[in-house]
Amino acid sequence: MKIQKAHVVRLYPSLVQEEFLRQIGGGIRFLWNLALEQRQTWGQRHGLNRFSQSKELTQLRSEVDWLKACPSQVLQQVLNDLEKAFRNFFARRAGFPKFRKKPGGDSFRFPDGKSVLYERLTGKGGRLKLPKLGSIRFRGWRDIPGQIRNVTVRCDAGQWFAAIQYEHEIADPAVKVLPAAGIDRGISAIIAVSGAGRTKGPNAYRKALKKLRRAQRVVSRRQKGSQNRRKAVLRVARLHQKVRRVRADFLHKISYGLAKNHGTLVFEALKIRNMVRSAVGTVTEPGRHVRQKAGLNRSILDQGWGMLRSFCGYKIAERGGQCLDVSARNTSRECRVCRHVSADNRVSQTRFFCVSCGHTENADDNASVVILKRAVDNGLLPVEALRQHAREAGISVGSLLASSQ
Ligand SMILES: [Zn+2]
Repeated sequence: MKIQKAHVVRLYPSLVQEEFLRQIGGGIRFLWNLALEQRQTWGQRHGLNRFSQSKELTQLRSEVDWLKACPSQVLQQVLNDLEKAFRNFFARRAGFPKFRKKPGGDSFRFPDGKSVLYERLTGKGGRLKLPKLGSIRFRGWRDIPGQIRNVTVRCDAGQWFAAIQYEHEIADPAVKVLPAAGIDRGISAIIAVSGAGRTKGPNAYRKALKKLRRAQRVVSRRQKGSQNRRKAVLRVARLHQKVRRVRADFLHKISYGLAKNHGTLVFEALKIRNMVRSAVGTVTEPGRHVRQKAGLNRSILDQGWGMLRSFCGYKIAERGGQCLDVSARNTSRECRVCRHVSADNRVSQTRFFCVSCGHTENADDNASVVILKRAVDNGLLPVEALRQHAREAGISVGSLLASSQ
């Protein structure tokens, strides 16, 4: 089977290179906004699309010097991204594409892996050769087994990173016969796994969140355009970065354990709309969002939820297991014992009490079992049933699964 993975390295561009990276970031923003405005104004009547805009881009590049300096494949990629954003919008998967406002969260992709050179120099250090940029030093070298597909360069809190996406072929893993588990997203960063209890997000995560809120208050007190405000904004960005790192680390550990010990993981189906929004990666501008304080926790958890799903997805697939998604409707209101659904079943945030059969349990634990049961309703066979089937038929469980697919 083919698997796609990404490896992230921290870039250490020279002063000249950094200036150029910023310039590309600016060019990307300019082009995105221009193309978006063009579509908004003329799109419907004149049948503008990616191809006509791409032709115009060639024209534009010949006239504007600083746009000419940007690598052309990176600029073309912007138009592809915009096209995709519009398709998602028309398919009602995402909101209308937004204008890109401020520098700081720049990100752009080199879509052709063949034009990229990734090599090691010493220990963890190496250099990454990108079109027009030349060799950039980086740290975090690791052997990349397979073909580089593309490279995304981004700026995060004043630091530069490159995500190198690659594809490689691994032997098909043997079908795994391990138990299935339902996974529920609880309140305040709690993840409940059916039959295995609850896990709370790490302490460092909550501490970082607290600091982040405080830092955001500082920004809102500073005068706009002042040097001190800029410093405070950078501090918020650094804390955001830290929250993201702690979260990713935590989710990698959790998903590894889940993938290692289960054959099937069942999740509540995600709303793609939310996923798209987090993929776009809006840079929060402190002080402007009134509802930010309330929304912060929520949004960070939502993004973490999508990450947990995707981490589990590839980790379990590599080990011969699978992830399933079931409808998220009323999972927190359904009784796992008698399957009765009622809003009154939920006596508090954490307590579940069934008004029909009297079953009582922690609400997140109950939901995780409900989620698992929904997958069984959809045809997921419990491991014991599989073993029984195989024993009766006198064949291995693996071949039974293969024949049923
Ligand atoms: Zn009940």
